Parts: sequence; structure tokens; C-alpha cells
Amino acid sequence: MKLLVTGGAGFIGSAVVRQAVAQGHEVVNLDALTYAACLENVASVADQETYAFEHCDIRDAAAVEAVFERHAPDAVMHLAAESHVDRSIDGPGLFIETNVNGTFNLLQAARAHWERQGRPEGFRFHHISTDEVYGSLGAEGQFTEDTPYAPNSPYSASKAASDHLVRAWGETYGLPVVITNCSNNYGPFHFPEKLIPVVILNALAGKEIPVYGKGENVRDWLFVEDHADALLTVLQRGEVGRSYNIGGENEARNIDLVRMICAILDELRPQERPYSSLISFVQDRPGHDMRYAIDPSRMRGELNWRPSVTLEQGLRKTVEWYLENEVWWRALQDREGVGVRLGKA
Ligand code: NAD
Repeated sequence: MKLLVTGGAGFIGSAVVRQAVAQGHEVVNLDALTYAACLENVASVADQETYAFEHCDIRDAAAVEAVFERHAPDAVMHLAAESHVDRSIDGPGLFIETNVNGTFNLLQAARAHWERQGRPEGFRFHHISTDEVYGSLGAEGQFTEDTPYAPNSPYSASKAASDHLVRAWGETYGLPVVITNCSNNYGPFHFPEKLIPVVILNALAGKEIPVYGKGENVRDWLFVEDHADALLTVLQRGEVGRSYNIGGENEARNIDLVRMICAILDELRPQERPYSSLISFVQDRPGHDMRYAIDPSRMRGELNWRPSVTLEQGLRKTVEWYLENEVWWRALQDREGVGVRLGKA
């Protein structure tokens, strides 16, 4: 297939691009190259004839339409977004512009393209979203695809809005859409403002490791390569009009996650004192969701998909990758906002 992947210079999008090219698909990577992007993430496929890059902002409707006309894709995998909750607290406007209006522009351009092509049944608009649209869980229960939406942050509200637009374009115009909502990702090429890279990089620098609140918030961690595999599975075998929750089946409290990373570092890069001595509890994020957990039944039962690594295995691979790729992360540490506490409101 010829895939138009938006946000392919970001963390998850680049994993999708690398895997899709490896699977033999043609890939057009559309990205505005914001602070969160890094073309190094796709350097391993950049020379392939089956790969093309379009520097384009999804807030620019005419530019998005032109990309569809130039490339005539068979499917869209839409990952471009503002993705950092803390930044959404400080500056929600950009999240509405990109995640809501940008998705609207993309839907309109995809729909016009699909109509021009004679409404092919095999066309897909695959929208990649988050489990954060469901809000926060208590100690029990899991999110299913039928859990009501109850987003709590400007980020998750903007993603929820975009999910609703995608659903409506499927119901109203017949555009063949599919939606996935996944849990927190981690792995290679994760931008150094997110929790897991912050822990690894602060530990290596001998700096305080900040943990929000008491570290009791629970996330269901998904290794990014597993997520990319799940997305390509849904794209090819998912049912039109359906949504799929993708989880790692790896729930952990933040504090336990941080201690696991410190223990792996103690083994791979030992210091005089254990890295966990750097842990420091800091002011919590306002509106911080307590727990997310995915019920994976639909992905398992209908598409026979499940994650390939445990949290321990995935974290080890991730720590090893950061130890081996210092040039990559050093270059990103100078970017605006990185290493600064954001989102205290
Ligand atoms: P990221 O921030 O690493 O990458 C986002 C990419 O989108 C960047 O390359 C950026 O340049 C691009 N982009 C931003 N605004 C754009 C615009 N206006 N036009 C074109 N490109 C633009 O994000 P990520 O972590 O890779 O997340 C990708 C998608 O997956 C997002 O839609 C996010 O909501 C969703 N998601 C992420 C997670 C996670 O744990 N990271 C979990 C669930 C869902």
C-alpha cells in the first residue's frame, strides 16, 4: 500500500514509518518538524525509493490537499499531534489548532481524495489516539472501547475531539475510518521531555529524578515497536468504523517504574550510590489522572494481537538504546522547554 503517515518524524510515527517501509509499503511521511520532531528517527529508511518526506503543517488546509494530490495514498495513518500533557496545560491553544483543526483539515482532504478516486472500499483513514480520552480509573477496572469519554487535560480533550470528528466523517460521509486508542508508549527515540527518558537521562547526569506527587499514578506501558506493529495490524485487518484499544498489559505505578529503571542502570552503568537515591517527589500535575488500564480483549480476540515484550524486557532494551545513542539525545536537550518543569498551572 501507499501510506500517508502524519507525524512520522515523531516518536511513534517514526516507528510506524520504519516498520511500514520494512514490510514493503510505500510511505509518505508528512510532518511539520515541530520541537518534538527529529528526522534522525527515520534516517535508517530515508534513502529507500519507497520513502518520501513532505514538510507540511496540518493546520494549513491547502498544503495538506496538495500532498494528497501529489501522492494519492491508499491509506492515511494520522499521528501528527501536540502530545505533551504538561505543555497543553501551559499553552492549550496550539493543541486545539493542531489536534482538532489539523485533524479536520486532514479529514476534509482525505474525503475529497477518496471521492475523486471513486470511493474505493479499501481506503482507510486510521486515526491514532490515546486512552487518556477515557479519563481516570480508580483502583479497579479497565478501559474498553465502550467506556464513555471523560478527558481531563487540554491534551486529552483535544484528542477526544479529534476522535469524534473522525467517527462523524465515517458515519456522515462514509469515509472508511478506524480509530485506535493506546496506552503510554516508551522505547527508542522517545523525546527527552517524557517520563522514561527524563529518568534515564537525569540518572546518568547525576541529577535529581523528579516524580510527580507520591508516584502512585498507574500507567499501562506499551513498547513503541509493539504499538507500531499493532497499528499496521489494525490498518490491514481492522473493521471499518470500529475502534480498538491497544495496551501493553504492563501496569505499573510511576514510582515502581522509576525504581525498575534505576535498577537496570545500577546493573548496566554502576555508580557508587544506587541511582534510586536521586529520586525526588515534586509538586503534582494539576488534573493528574490516577490510573489508566486497557482491556485488550478486542485486539486479542478479533485480531489475534498481543504485545511481544514484558515491561522489564522493554525497559532494558530502552535503557540500552539510550546508553548507545547519546549523540541522538544530547542534540535534543537544547530544545525549548526540555529539562524545564512545565505544566504547574
Ligand atoms: P510526538 O510529539 O513524538 O510526535 C508528534 C509529531 O507530529 C512530531 O514529529 C511533530 O513534528 C508532528 N506535528 C506536530 N504538529 C504538527 C502539525 N501541525 N502538522 C504536522 N505535523 C505536526 O508524539 P508521539 O508520542 O509520537 O505521538 C504520536 C501520536 O500518538 C499522537 O497523536 C498522540 O496523541 C498519540 N499517542 C501517543 C502516546 C504516547 O505515549 N506517546 C500514547 C497514545 C497516543
